[in-house]
Amino acid sequence: MLCVSGASAKADEAVDVVIRGGMIYDGSDSKPFVGDVAIRGDRIVYVGPAGGYAADRVIDATGLIVAPGFIDPHTHADGFLRSPDKAVRVNAAWLNQGVSTVMIGVDGAGTPDVAEDAAQLQTSGVGTNVAFFVGFGPVRQRVLGQDARAPDAAELDRMRALVAKGMCEGALGLSTGLFYAPQSFAKTGEVVAVAREAAIRGGLYDTHQRDESTYSIGLLGSVREAIEIGRQAGMPVHFAHLKALGVDVHGQAGAVIAAIDAARAEGVDVTADQYPWLASGSNLDAALLPRWAVDGGGPALLKRLDEPATLARIRAEMQDNLRRRGGAGALLLIAQGFPWTGQTLEQVAAEWKVDSRDAALRIIRQSVQAKGLGERGGGTSVASFNMAQADVDLLMQQPWMVTSSDGSDGHPRMFATFPEKYLRYVRERQVIDLATFVRQSTGRTADIYKLDGRGYLRSGYYADVLVFDPIEYRPRAHYVNPRELSAGVRKLFVNGVLAVDDGRTTGAAAGRALLRPPPRECAIKGG
Ligand SMILES: [Zn+2]
Repeated sequence: MLCVSGASAKADEAVDVVIRGGMIYDGSDSKPFVGDVAIRGDRIVYVGPAGGYAADRVIDATGLIVAPGFIDPHTHADGFLRSPDKAVRVNAAWLNQGVSTVMIGVDGAGTPDVAEDAAQLQTSGVGTNVAFFVGFGPVRQRVLGQDARAPDAAELDRMRALVAKGMCEGALGLSTGLFYAPQSFAKTGEVVAVAREAAIRGGLYDTHQRDESTYSIGLLGSVREAIEIGRQAGMPVHFAHLKALGVDVHGQAGAVIAAIDAARAEGVDVTADQYPWLASGSNLDAALLPRWAVDGGGPALLKRLDEPATLARIRAEMQDNLRRRGGAGALLLIAQGFPWTGQTLEQVAAEWKVDSRDAALRIIRQSVQAKGLGERGGGTSVASFNMAQADVDLLMQQPWMVTSSDGSDGHPRMFATFPEKYLRYVRERQVIDLATFVRQSTGRTADIYKLDGRGYLRSGYYADVLVFDPIEYRPRAHYVNPRELSAGVRKLFVNGVLAVDDGRTTGAAAGRALLRPPPRECAIKGG
């Protein structure tokens, strides 16, 4: 078993790797120092002043930063990790940011069959470690389908049993995405009852909350709901990609922070993660059209656009959606290979000398005719700049905040979140310092999710070790070229295996499925 305090290499002992003379940020709050990190097998065996070990591989880290491999607690990395192609499963998008561990099953999407899922990933071989959530979505869907109703007592029991199963198979906790149907149909009490099964097994409540804006109960109402779920279920609450989305809630970060701090003062353990981008990813049709206009799909939409009276209604409702999104200047068109690529909707409208709604409708119409509604490659992809810089900055400075990517296709956050945060928020704007950036990307995250033996550079811990160049470490992906690998990672070890060497993935699939040991409570039925 893990021996944290005892194991430490002696100067005359052979080790596999010595990383020599780097500036060591160990993932904790302690001051960085120049020193060595030694690795034997899959473990760190020494962290401290220059030790003079004999090693097969000595890495000169002079002038470089040495840190624990980064941990990304909110990802949609499944597509890469489950690819039939091993070269894809190494998960280069994350490795090249210095990330050694990703969490999946977020937003309430995780399967209750955690053991089976973990075994499959472990057997096929993946490049990063993977940790799992059991998700409220599949749990509710298996019992209630898409029904917009409350479960009866027997149904609730079945849902609880599924959560218990996922927890006993090694999930970190229960994830929810109450913004999304059918999870959105659940009232607070139902979520509490289900979450309690994770609580009594040591899990946390990880939520894409019900409302990040003004769609239903409002941002603050939604924050209060999540805290209340944690309070009643008796478990830590973690907000995924915490943000104030849309002009209606800009400036509310302070109130969100006050609500979280008040809960923490009362003993509810509340934390959050955040991505360092001002835009979320969307499509023009989803962002601007009223829902009824797209009911029935592309052909129905085209028909409505040809009816003058219906078109007038659509245009009227688009006006409010545009306002909520921050106007046409806040929508950057990012689909590749179109005349409008890289321009804002406002710029395109000016060029075409039409109202911005009509410019949007022209793009949507062309795309639907060419590809169908909501199809990839149709030209309607937008980066929707709906967050205020001041809110993002303020949230980032909180002692309970950690870094996440929410990495998903079509947005640069999948390939560049960690270096983007480092470049823009540490180096250029100094919103946080380097030690805080590392802590928010390693040790604090490991603490929140109780990851055993990870997140810190400590003797006896797993050798997830990152060496990056403080000058060269930078994002290359941006909104119009979202799939560029990041630069500046010199070395990344995953479980002691070199996964990135001078900015290139080695092809090693050294990641492991990180399953929590079954809690004692797994013998207990119900709660
Ligand atoms: Zn989400």
